[in-house]
Amino acid sequence: MKAIQVHEFGAPDVMKLEEIPTPKPGPGQVLVRVKAVGVNPYDTYMRSGGYAIKPSLPYTPGSDAAGTVETVGAGVSRVKPGARVYTARSITGAYAEFALALESQVHPLPECASFAQGAGVWVPYGTAYHALHHFAHACAGEVVLIHGASGGVGTAAVQIARAMGLTVFGTAGTEKGLELAKREGAHQVFDHRASGYQESILKAAGGRGVDIILEMLANVNLGADLKLLATNGRVIVIGSRGDVNITPRDLMSRRGSILAFTLWSISETEERETHAGLIAGLENGTLRPVVGKELPLAAAVQAHKDVMTPGAFGKIVLLP
Ligand code: NAP
Repeated sequence: MKAIQVHEFGAPDVMKLEEIPTPKPGPGQVLVRVKAVGVNPYDTYMRSGGYAIKPSLPYTPGSDAAGTVETVGAGVSRVKPGARVYTARSITGAYAEFALALESQVHPLPECASFAQGAGVWVPYGTAYHALHHFAHACAGEVVLIHGASGGVGTAAVQIARAMGLTVFGTAGTEKGLELAKREGAHQVFDHRASGYQESILKAAGGRGVDIILEMLANVNLGADLKLLATNGRVIVIGSRGDVNITPRDLMSRRGSILAFTLWSISETEERETHAGLIAGLENGTLRPVVGKELPLAAAVQAHKDVMTPGAFGKIVLLP
């Protein structure tokens, strides 16, 4: 099969499209014929060698594949050959024509979602769901600011929060990103590159502040975020690419909290609940992954450059 292989950590061009043996499923394993692969920012951190998790070399990147079950190993009962599925992690990596996964890493992809959309489910929607439900404990009627609402996690969070009955504020850095956040359900949108936009957010929140902030770039925004919080407000740090200074008194005076997680640390129970919620949302149409760009698998190098370039618009997906 064709697969992207990384033999050394480094710049995007360390990724090479190579011919490697197609894996065979052992007991409890599933071989997925990959139709689409989601490109996530963490794929680039891992490839560069600067991420907390360093796979042993060589490796095939990617956790988010969508496709059909090709074959199953002994004892697999949840899926059958031919079934449409998405993956949440895998054993052999998703940037390939086939991905070997544990049975527990494979989930049904509803008919109404395309394979390209299925490749945008696990990391973006899993993260947004985990943040809103398990960390923010968001309630209908609360105000959430999705700070970075134009990308994979942000568009997912806008749709989930809107379906939960929250008032949704979203930010983006381009006109098309702002339009996307609005189209996907944000009640109000703000340009995070415009000076003084935080004041516009406070004004939109009637001066009381926002209850929840889902933060995609904490190293830039965390200090200012604390000044936007309502009493008992919470910031959920989803993304950060460096250090930041904060003024703790901004939190103290608001009884505020800062919470943070990586999706790698989700518990089995939380993950089970997350997949159930996401599959239901895909089925009932409240969750509609936005595919902004489709590229061939051979263009993985370009995809890694694109995903780190400002001007996000939903997901970038590779097609093997
Ligand atoms: P993405 O698709 O590349 O989107 C990036 C988002 O960040 C866009 O909405 C972008 O807006 C926005 N952004 C850029 N500059 C910003 C600023 N100054 N203030 C606020 N937002 C800004 O990436 P993603 O998949 O949505 O992931 C977002 C971040 O979360 C990444 O850093 C990623 O590594 C991280 N993440 C963490 C977890 C976890 O487990 N904790 C899981 C998934 C993702 P414009 O491009 O419109 O400016």
